[in-house]
Amino acid sequence: MPDQEESVASSQSTSYAKFLPELSSLTKPFWEYCEKHELRMQYCAKCSQWIWYPKAWCPSCGDRKSIEWRKLSGVGTIYSFTIIRQVIDNSPAFQADIPFIIGLIELEEGPRIYSNVTGTPIDSVSIGDRVMVYFDDVTQEISLPKFRKY
Ligand SMILES: [Zn+2]
Repeated sequence: MPDQEESVASSQSTSYAKFLPELSSLTKPFWEYCEKHELRMQYCAKCSQWIWYPKAWCPSCGDRKSIEWRKLSGVGTIYSFTIIRQVIDNSPAFQADIPFIIGLIELEEGPRIYSNVTGTPIDSVSIGDRVMVYFDDVTQEISLPKFRKY
């Protein structure tokens, strides 16, 4: 019971106004590693393939028992990106960020992940730029993996 009370208290203490991930049994490990500031994805040890996004079985070989959560370097390149200049319904939570960048990051291990690219003027971002993950602790439980040039 004390654990439940703590989680209620912590979720009420946040003032984060944007969308938060909805954790499922498949995605929960990913977010728990993010909370520890570790970028991990599923990896099939049977056929040596990365799996992203989280799945119950390997899409390459169908195996269910050889999937492990493996740590990535967090280093990658911008495979593609878009600059957001307008948000739906002029959502105030996002309005303050405009313009901002959503990138498709190709990690050096191979998987591609969508995320924000921050910390640099939007005019200086190009496809192929090297980026490194960092974690934005938006609530006590949720740390969002984001990327910045290095
Ligand atoms: Zn496999």
